[in-house]
Amino acid sequence: MSYRVTLIPGDGTGPELVAQARRAIEATGVSIAWEVVEAGADVMDKYGTPLPDSVLESIERTGVALKGPITTPIGTGFRSVNVALRQRLNLYACVRPCKYYPGIRSHYTDVDLVVVRENTEDLYAGVEFDLGSAQARQIIEMSEGKIAADSAISIKPISETASRRIVEFAFDYAVANGRRKVTAVTKANIMKFTDGLFFRVAREVAAEHEGRIEYEERLIDNMCMQLVQKPELYDVLVLPNLYGDIVSDLAAGLVGGLGVAPGANYGGTGFKPVPTVFEAIHGSAPKYKGMNKVNPTALILCGVMLLRHLGEPAAAERLEAATAAVIAEGKHVTYDMKPTRDDPTAVGTKEMTDAVIARL
Ligand code: NAD
Repeated sequence: MSYRVTLIPGDGTGPELVAQARRAIEATGVSIAWEVVEAGADVMDKYGTPLPDSVLESIERTGVALKGPITTPIGTGFRSVNVALRQRLNLYACVRPCKYYPGIRSHYTDVDLVVVRENTEDLYAGVEFDLGSAQARQIIEMSEGKIAADSAISIKPISETASRRIVEFAFDYAVANGRRKVTAVTKANIMKFTDGLFFRVAREVAAEHEGRIEYEERLIDNMCMQLVQKPELYDVLVLPNLYGDIVSDLAAGLVGGLGVAPGANYGGTGFKPVPTVFEAIHGSAPKYKGMNKVNPTALILCGVMLLRHLGEPAAAERLEAATAAVIAEGKHVTYDMKPTRDDPTAVGTKEMTDAVIARL
């Protein structure tokens, strides 16, 4: 049987990374019928938009996509394709596994975290009122002196529905992936209504899993300190959008940074929902475009997540083990994984992938 998967090469270094990740996934022997669709800055002229309908239609049809990074040019007026995809497909859960692989240059060696970030609301809802606007003035008046008269204002909506959906997702993810603990993170001591609601809902969901998955709460400031002091204590973290954004980068930094951190965005309802988009945390690194230079690890690890999602755990394990072996050996790795960035023994994107494939 062949799985149908949408493939979005993206732009910048995206196409060369996606091409190598595709080779590595195919080398596991799992048969995938790729639907290749174009999006990003390079197709603006051809389609008049960086996100043609064909991309969304394909993901809706296949339910799963592997996506290369896409540039968001500054000041040209077109919205981020990444944000548009998230909104149009209701990709409400952003999952970032942050796991240490021996051989990676990091201060930490005992990290195996999964950050589950709510992706649809909070301060990212885009409800903002500029300094001097009628709405800002109205809110300032309603605040009875709590907000300075010369303020711009962003609204932070946290809903019961979206909070329940993301916490249920985190617990389902923990169960499905053999995890032991979920930690909910907010600043509920200060934002008693919004973050307080998130914690209340999280406790209700946790009660349904009592005895099977441990539950605990942390305040975001304390969480950041704990992550840099003893990250080994944490397992699955679930957070509202803004804290999730920051903590997922912090956690990626603990395990070696951008080149090695995969991610996935899940939409729909319930666990194993459709659609799901797998993509690296890093961007399109346009200055290295076409140079066969950047690290394919993050995209290959996205492939590992994709294979697990498709129900091919054995192939996923093999691809992860082969990637880990190449990293541990430290020989056939890209410049960013060498002791210095100008190390002449660094290999290219393709050659590192060749080494992974050779160990499958
Ligand atoms: P970036 O992640 O593209 O690059 C920052 C730096 O990180 C690079 O210069 C490079 O030194 C390093 N880097 C990134 N990926 C690497 C890899 N695979 N191997 C080795 N080194 C790597 O971030 P940026 O420069 O802020 O963004 C460039 C563009 O990408 C922007 O237009 C941004 O909007 C976009 N972006 C897209 C996504 C996405 O598609 N999901 C995510 C983030 C940024």
